[in-house]
Amino acid sequence: DSDEEAGEEYLFKVVIIGDSAVGKSNLLSRYARNEFNMNSKATIGVEFQTQSMDIDGKEVKAQIWDTAGQERFRAVTSAYYRGAVGGLIVYDISRRSTFDSVGRWLDELKTHSDTTVAKMLVGNKCDLENIRDVSVEEGKNLAEAEGLFFMETSALDSTNVIMAFEIVIREIYNNVS
Ligand code: GDP
Ligand code: MG
Repeated sequence: DSDEEAGEEYLFKVVIIGDSAVGKSNLLSRYARNEFNMNSKATIGVEFQTQSMDIDGKEVKAQIWDTAGQERFRAVTSAYYRGAVGGLIVYDISRRSTFDSVGRWLDELKTHSDTTVAKMLVGNKCDLENIRDVSVEEGKNLAEAEGLFFMETSALDSTNVIMAFEIVIREIYNNVS
């Protein structure tokens, strides 16, 4: 259509990765539908959700992919990563083992991507300050060392969720435009 001819249509694939139960599905449901589920249910059927934002007066759509629980078996397939230009690597600030896994997720993302990927390290569940197991400083330092954006979020109380996704989407837009 005329939009495409004018080169003003943007659709970016973004993947969410990280250990099981860090809050990946809830970050996406909070961002795309403003919903939160206390009881984690396996994602059934839906592979991704599309969310639009406006940048420079242009409609930019992000197709955001969520795993269906395969990460539990370390079995996220290459199809999941294919074509991704953005990634959120999520850990749970109350569970150090999930922070220790970040390097492995970064390696996997690198292995499967053949282009520049805008990456955000996300320390989720920042509402759980009383049982914090990873300091803000550690998150920041790792992000700096790996060249990632960094943000602590809470899918539960909505802290920084929109911000985390939108920073990644803006960076992708900057990379391609
Ligand atoms: P996933 O396996 O990474 O997709 O994680 P889920 O989104 O299924 O969440 C796992 C569990 O953590 C669920 O019981 C959620 O309710 C809970 N959860 C997710 N995000 C948050 C958060 O920001 N704060 C708190 N306190 N719990 C969260
Ligand atoms: Mg999930």
